[in-house]
Parts: sequence; C-alpha cells; structure tokens
Amino acid sequence: MSHSTTSRIQEHIGDPVSDESPVGREKLEEIFQDIQADLRYDHELNGCLNCGICTATCPAAHYYDFSPREIVQLLWTENLEGIYDTMQEKIWSCAQCYTCAARCPFGNSPGGLVMLMRETAIKHGMESAKNVLRPFSRVMLKLISTGNQLSPDMITPDGFADWGPNVSKIDAPLETLRKAIPMPTLHTTKTAWEVNLKTSVELYTIWEETGVLDSLEIIDENLFDVISDIMDEKRDDYEDWLDEQDDD
Ligand code: SF4
Ligand code: SF4
Repeated sequence: MSHSTTSRIQEHIGDPVSDESPVGREKLEEIFQDIQADLRYDHELNGCLNCGICTATCPAAHYYDFSPREIVQLLWTENLEGIYDTMQEKIWSCAQCYTCAARCPFGNSPGGLVMLMRETAIKHGMESAKNVLRPFSRVMLKLISTGNQLSPDMITPDGFADWGPNVSKIDAPLETLRKAIPMPTLHTTKTAWEVNLKTSVELYTIWEETGVLDSLEIIDENLFDVISDIMDEKRDDYEDWLDEQDDD
C-alpha cells in the first residue's frame, strides 16, 4: 500500500497557544517521509482502533508520559507536528519489549514504529537523539575498541548512577574474583572476554556496511573520530598479523 496518496493527512494543528511551528512544514514532511519510506512501515502499521490495548499492557506507559496508542494514532492520522513533537522526548521512553505488538488486534507494532522514529531522529541529527545517546558513548567506545559492550571495570557507582542503591551490590573485589574463573581470557576486568583481531575487523565492516558508523558521525562527531582512529590501528595490526603468517 502506498501512503503517498492516502487522505488521512491532518492539516496544521500546532501548539494550542501559538501558531508557530517548531520547524517548517517542509522539514516535517521530510521527517515523516523518511519514517514512511522504511520497508518495515507498512508491515508495522495496519490501521488503529484506538482501543488502547497496547498502552494498557505497555510497561513504559506505567512509568512515563508515554503511550504507544498515541504514537500509532499520530502516524496513522499523519499528524506531522505531533510526530515531530513525540520525537523530541517520548519515543525514547519505549523499552522495546514488543508486548504491544503481541497484543494489538490490528497486528500493529507500536514498538517497531518507535524504532523507525528513533532511527529517523538520529538520521536528522535531532537534539533528543544526541542527548539520549550521549551517556552511552563510553559503552560505544568500549564496544568498538574491544568487541565488548560492557566490561567489569565499567560497573561502578559513577558509571551506573541510574541503578541507585543497587549499584552497591556489585561493589566486590572483581580483580580477585575474575582470576578465579577457569578461562584465562576472562582474567581481566578491562574486557568481558577476549575478541580476536579478525573478529574485530569483521565487526567494523558490519558497522560500516549497515550504516551504524554513519549514524554515529551524525550524533557524535568526536566519538566517531576517536573510533575511526582505533579501527584504522586495528586494521593495520590485522594486516601486519596476516603478513607475518605469510612469511612463516
Ligand atoms: S515495545 Fe515499547 S511501546 Fe511496545 S509495549 Fe514495549 S515499551 Fe511499550
Ligand atoms: S495500536 Fe492496536 S492496540 Fe494500540 S490502540 Fe491501535 S488498534 Fe489498539
């Protein structure tokens, strides 16, 4: 089904106390078209009864000012300003558990639609995407430089302030405990496990080919530069290692 000829488009609604739109109509349309152009869009949005079953079962809706029903309604009615507005904050509350997708009588996937909106927010370099992803720059650096998302030495009260008092439960002698693990590759707290050079280089290729690094460059150019340098170094190391094998 093509959405370009549908008639659900709402005309300007805007802020109830102002006629000013936060961005121009052209930009709103560009953002919506990017969401709509994704192959998953038609699969994940099939109509909406406005029944609220998705919101009733959504864990995020219990804790935040967030409703999957609202997200689906905004997309279904093509409320461009509302869509833009939810992309400023609300879409980042979803836990991506997909309970909503399992329950919706229309076969919609509100969680999947949220994912499309998040990807579009990153593509457009929206401030909300930069703010939400900033705390994860340390994890991103660790992942790309070591192949591990999280290492034991990162689990500290400062690094996980959002765990609240629970973070004290992992305040254990990790250096000593790790040495008790039988596998030598785990006798460190700097990585969770050892990832060899070949695997690291393969991961770089995947991140490049799938556009992950392009997205990173949009939302955090400094981190992108640091990571690019690390990748170049590791690729050189891998080439050297291959040359050494040829010489043997
Ligand atoms: S995927 Fe997101 S919107 Fe759907 S139920 Fe889970 S938290 Fe709610
Ligand atoms: S997305 Fe599905 S479950 Fe949610 S309000 Fe619409 S029809 Fe109901």
